[in-house]
Amino acid sequence: MEKVRVNLADRSYDILISGGWLDELGRHLRGIVPSEKILVVTDSRVGKLYADKTVESLRKEDFPTDIITLPEGEENKTLDTVERIYNFLADNNFPRRATLVALGGGVVGDITGFAAATYMRGVNFVQIPTSLLAMVDSSVGGKTGVNHPLGKNLIGAFYQPKFVFIDTSLLKTLAPEEFYAGMAEVIKYGMIKNEAFFEFLSDEMDALVSGDMKSINTIIKRCCEIKAEVVSEDEREAGIRAILNFGHTVGHAIEALTNYHKYRHGEAVAIGMIAASQIAIKMGMLSEMEVQRLWQVVSRAKLPYRLLELDPIDIVERMKKDKKVRSEKIRFVLPRQIGETVIRDDVSEQIMIDVLNDIRD
Ligand code: NAD
Repeated sequence: MEKVRVNLADRSYDILISGGWLDELGRHLRGIVPSEKILVVTDSRVGKLYADKTVESLRKEDFPTDIITLPEGEENKTLDTVERIYNFLADNNFPRRATLVALGGGVVGDITGFAAATYMRGVNFVQIPTSLLAMVDSSVGGKTGVNHPLGKNLIGAFYQPKFVFIDTSLLKTLAPEEFYAGMAEVIKYGMIKNEAFFEFLSDEMDALVSGDMKSINTIIKRCCEIKAEVVSEDEREAGIRAILNFGHTVGHAIEALTNYHKYRHGEAVAIGMIAASQIAIKMGMLSEMEVQRLWQVVSRAKLPYRLLELDPIDIVERMKKDKKVRSEKIRFVLPRQIGETVIRDDVSEQIMIDVLNDIRD
């Protein structure tokens, strides 16, 4: 079993990583959350596969456990869905010492975290990420929230889990496209923080996409370490944490413009990373060769790197609505080289439009 610590004073917690141990969840939660009611929140797909085992493991340890199953998919990451959770909690008299357990991908994690942050001004929260994206990124760091028609993750809260429990064997049932989408966030870590890790991905990408569990376990631990390090330094994104948004400025706009339906989050981020890198070339910060290296890893991860059907002007207009816009300036995380990024808010609209046109099919 591997352990990664997120150091945040009295909000510190462990991420435990292993394979085939979901039935030990209850035992691991003893002493971490009170012996009060637990609500497991899952989605229709993950619930069918893993809800029984999760609930059984908790009840075996005498946690009074209920379950709520949400419809799957990003389009359900809304306040209406959060309200369903509030209704269940209130109808069933869940107290302040209760715990919400998110069993699912990033969508379930973000929704459940927001419900946990706000029900009775905050109840305990535990993450059991089941997608690659959730294991390497969304379950760690305490960003929770839902989408609004005008913007991705526009409504939310910083709220740390008490514990993150990663069972890597759950990835066996994840659809390949979802696995590839998660790989976008993995590549992101190499690009923003660690060239050696990027090189590792470049060497191992074929093994990774064909499901080699040894390499997959290695990257999950490494990503959790990088995210834990960044979040421990800057929990609320006052500074360095913003580099985790590499690829997300364009990515979020693409998702919102296509009603969170056409592109998976990771796919939109992959296109966004290529766009940000092309912008960096036009700003004279990055060499063509470095972008080629990124492009190769992205394509070997079976991720999209070209834009379909969207108008660059619409994308720019949508980026202006992003919550990270300051004084009406769009902020980009741009690579200076592989493993190093800077934040810039002086990219001209012409450069944005030119690059988006260049990467359009
Ligand atoms: P998702 O939660 O929609 O999961 C993708 C699909 O995989 C769903 O259909 C789900 O049911 C299915 N699935 C998940 N685990 C499975 C398993 N083990 N077996 C079979 N099917 C499984 O999407 P995602 O890619 O996990 O997460 C994307 C979301 O994460 C986006 O909303 C994004 O904004 C958010 N996100 C949040 C953060 C954060 O810091 N909070 C960071 C990155 C992304």
